Formats: sequence, structure tokens, C-alpha cells
Amino acid sequence: MNRMDLENRVVVVTGGARGIGLAVARRCLASGATVDLWDRDAAAITALLRAQDGARGLTGRVVDVTDLAAVERAADDTRAQHGRIDVLVNNAGFAGSTVPLERYDPEEWRRIVEVNLIGVFHCCRAVVGDMKAHGYGRVVNVASLAGKEGTPNASAYSAAKAGVIALTKSLGKELARTGVLVNCIAPAAVDTEILAQMSDQHVATMIAKSPMQRLGRVEEVAALVAWLASAECSFNTGAVFDLSGGRATY
Ligand code: NAD
Repeated sequence: MNRMDLENRVVVVTGGARGIGLAVARRCLASGATVDLWDRDAAAITALLRAQDGARGLTGRVVDVTDLAAVERAADDTRAQHGRIDVLVNNAGFAGSTVPLERYDPEEWRRIVEVNLIGVFHCCRAVVGDMKAHGYGRVVNVASLAGKEGTPNASAYSAAKAGVIALTKSLGKELARTGVLVNCIAPAAVDTEILAQMSDQHVATMIAKSPMQRLGRVEEVAALVAWLASAECSFNTGAVFDLSGGRATY
């Protein structure tokens, strides 16, 4: 494993209590960062902090990214505890049901957009102003290949992730001369608990579409995010980075 230089950086990872977010948090800790997890799952956050057993570098708080006031409080608390936020990884998300659009429960459709897209807006809104003031920051948004291709029976998720890609391009341009870089990643299917939200058929179809014929691993995602979170990423902003085992073609 290459060691990224995240020494003395403060990294916030939303949805960091499991899956991709937790792998990103571990990779950032191994690269010298202080990591603050923002996740709505209080039990998972508590268990992680307890397992950490006083080791340096990992803190966490319970936040639902759909709640702007809670996100603003978390940003204030993180800055009070660690001084500033250098890196924001907007990873919190969920896939929801895989059903045809005309049968989609409107409440669930809305909630998918609230978490996956509006949550990213909330966290960026609460954090990038301070990054601008410091003249340095890295924002990494976790989108999805679904946002580029449009996955059938996942209309809300695809629309929300397409929104994350567009938000990344828009904010990247807004901040291009401030020292704050904003990029996103677009993974295809990665082996985490989120796959349990999808039908077996849906997951099998995703694997079948992959030239590598396998799921991605969380460590593979974390490796790319760690580079995007580092100062070595310096001429990329508003960009979309695929992780698809060869599936993405544009
Ligand atoms: P996961 O279900 O394993 O973990 C998601 C985490 O986000 C959980 O800890 C959950 O508590 C947290 N979370 C959910 N809603 C939240 C909210 N409103 N506020 C705060 N935290 C919340 O999922 P994962 O597979 O690790 O997915 C992480 C990200 O990667 C998501 O944005 C997902 O859409 C994206 N992604 C995943 C895959 C995949 O195949 N696993 C592929 C492409 C993109």
C-alpha cells in the first residue's frame, strides 16, 4: 500500500461507520490524518470509537446529512475539536428499492434524493466557506456509475447521483482558484452492505456488466479517495473518476 501524505490533515467522512466510508477513514488514518466520522448510525459510531480504544486520530458524531442544522452543528463541533476541516468526503448514501419508476413509493424516491444529493449540498455548504478562508481544501463526493449511465429500476438513485456529478462540476468551477478542489468518484458495484438493499438479480446484472466480472473492494475505492484527498491531487477539479472494473466507457 502506498502511503498518501495526509499528515496533520483533518478529514470528515460522512457515512463513515461502515462500508466504503469506513475503508476511506482507515486509509486516511493510516496516511497520518485525523478522521471525524459523521454517520446517522449512533450504535455503529459508538462501537467504532470504543473499539478504537483511545487510539489517536479517530473521532465521530451522530449526524443525519438531510438535517442542515445538524450538519452545521457537526461542522462547528469538528472545528472546535480539531481546529479546521481540510478534507470532506461526502459518502453517506443509500440505494433504496429497485423497482420500476411507476411503482416507486414517492416518499422513498424523495428520501433517496434527500440523502444522496441534498445531503451533499448540506455538507458542502457547511464546510467549503471555511476551506476557502484557509485557502486549502479537498472535497471528494461519492457518486456512482448509476449517475452516468442511469440504472433501470433505480431512477431516484440514478437521478440523485447524476445530481452529485453535476454539483461536483459546478462547485469545482466555482472554487477553482481558491485552493479548494472538488472531485467525485463513480464506482460500479462494490462489495458492501448496500448491496443487500438490491435484489439478487440486480446485483447479478451489475457483475455481469463488468468486464472484470467481479465486485469492487472497499480498499480499492479508498485508495483513489485518499489520493483525491491529498495535496498531490492539484490539477483536477470538477472531475469524475470511474471505478468500474472496465465497465465505464465515457
Ligand atoms: P453502506 O450502506 O455500507 O454504508 C453507508 C453508510 O452511510 C452507513 O453507515 C449509513 O448509516 C450512512 N448513512 C446513510 N444515510 C445517512 C444519512 N442520512 N446521514 C448520515 N449517514 C447516513 O454503503 P456503501 O456501499 O459503503 O456506500 C457508500 C457510498 O458509496 C454511498 O453514497 C453509495 O451510494 C456509494 N456507492 C456504493 C456502491 C456500492 O456498490 N457499494 C457503488 C457506487 C456508489
